Amino acid sequence: MDVILLGAPGAGKGTQAQVLEEHIGLVHVASGDLFRAALRRGTELGMLAKSYMDRGELVPDEVVIRMIIERISQNDCASGVIFDGFPRTVAQAEALDAMLGRHGTQIDRVIRLEVNSQKLIDRVAKRFAEEGRKDDNPESFKIRLQAYTDQTAPLIPYYEKQGKLVGVDGMADVDAVAKSIATALDNL
Ligand code: AMP
Repeated sequence: MDVILLGAPGAGKGTQAQVLEEHIGLVHVASGDLFRAALRRGTELGMLAKSYMDRGELVPDEVVIRMIIERISQNDCASGVIFDGFPRTVAQAEALDAMLGRHGTQIDRVIRLEVNSQKLIDRVAKRFAEEGRKDDNPESFKIRLQAYTDQTAPLIPYYEKQGKLVGVDGMADVDAVAKSIATALDNL
């Protein structure tokens, strides 16, 4: 089973992906985490991504797509992946569909975590205070939110047309949201 968690920054994708990893045994593939790990290792990929990430802008599609292809080609991903933060553009979604199609598989469900803007702002401000993630500062966060609206929200009709999109109320507490996601995945 391959699942995408779709939602604005602060919608709870990372938290819910961890829950799914523990409970259903899907492998959590988070593009942002992969970039941050590359940066910690000081690789060329990390250095390249850093300037975009610090500003809150999206890393170019071809860079992200190459990194994801490499990650999901690894053996541990064979039994199913939960994508967190990827795809973020229609071009990335098309590349993912093509890539999975070559392996005779496809995305089974896209879970859209719905959270209003004020809640997103509050959550990310809290995360900034607690974890100090550079791109959670208010200025970068505004740009990330705009990037979501302009470049990522078009994925909603993209997956709707494929009949894969399920909306989940992401305003509730972690357990309640996890239950709604489990229900959305149950009939697969
Ligand atoms: P995240 O941890 O998912 O919020 O990602 C942090 C940052 O990494 C984003 O603001 C982008 O700069 C970059 N990034 C992560 N995933 C992608 C993606 N799929 N496409 C483009 N940039 C990405």
